[in-house]
Amino acid sequence: MDYFRSLRGKNVLVTGASSGIGEACVKAFAREGANLIFCARNIDKLKYLENEITDKYRVKTFIGKVDVRSLEQVNHFLASIPDELSKIDILVNNAGLALGLEKFYEGDPDDWDTMIDTNIKGLLYFSKNVANIMLKNNTRGHIINIGSIAGLGAYPGGAVYCATKAAVRILTDGMRIDLVDKPIKVSNIAPGMTETNFSNTRFHGDNERAKKVYKGIKPLSAEDIAEIVLFTAKLPEHVQIGELTVTPLHQSNSMVIFRENE
Ligand code: NDP
Repeated sequence: MDYFRSLRGKNVLVTGASSGIGEACVKAFAREGANLIFCARNIDKLKYLENEITDKYRVKTFIGKVDVRSLEQVNHFLASIPDELSKIDILVNNAGLALGLEKFYEGDPDDWDTMIDTNIKGLLYFSKNVANIMLKNNTRGHIINIGSIAGLGAYPGGAVYCATKAAVRILTDGMRIDLVDKPIKVSNIAPGMTETNFSNTRFHGDNERAKKVYKGIKPLSAEDIAEIVLFTAKLPEHVQIGELTVTPLHQSNSMVIFRENE
């Protein structure tokens, strides 16, 4: 028998699926035959992705335009999931962002609010509601949070973003503790530098500045992280990854990076 469990027919919910790691996770789970429920604010990108995976993998899907900062929108989305997909097996809490790289005393409080509301509160809104769905259905479930190595230690200009990812780390632990007597696993996947729209968003659309982040280093790709999320989800029922950090070859932590030709 295969060591890994099959995800065929499982219902997987991915937040922040319109780009980067979330989009790659949707494709990776669809390839395994899982049904996909996914959301973000950019509904056009979600529709495009939905067409792509239904054509290619013939899996069932449900998409929604959701701002994870709104508890009302999160509740409405979860309540709209059709019956055949409503028993969620796996939640990937991926929606998140960094905004700005200023010293905290020069930072924009609006950026702080957006990061805290998205990365912490949005993740909590989905986790509480989906955990209750899993508990009601007696599902052998899994909540997979996309944290960051930024949650292990701060870097210059990253105080608030790093704090939100430290919160994801501790929330993951807290959820695992609260669910210890239930058949639900909780994992924190903490990537290092991954080339997605992340830096374009951080620098408010300054693409030149975003490109420089990855100068002289081969960063991780969204697909690299999606394969690790998939691996985490496919482990046997009794095996639970608490936390997994992953960096490119030439990155040791969020401060130590070796760049070629520098
Ligand atoms: P992208 O910018 O490519 O993707 C971010 C996704 O989050 C988009 O789909 C975006 O969708 C969604 N999102 C942002 N805000 C909201 C919101 N309020 N409501 C719903 N969805 C939202 O970046 P990544 O793929 O890199 O980021 C994914 C996760 O990975 C984040 O949590 C990030 O912190 C984490 N991470 C990334 C690293 C990296 O180097 N790239 C390293 C470590 C962690 P839309 O705008 O359509 O709403």
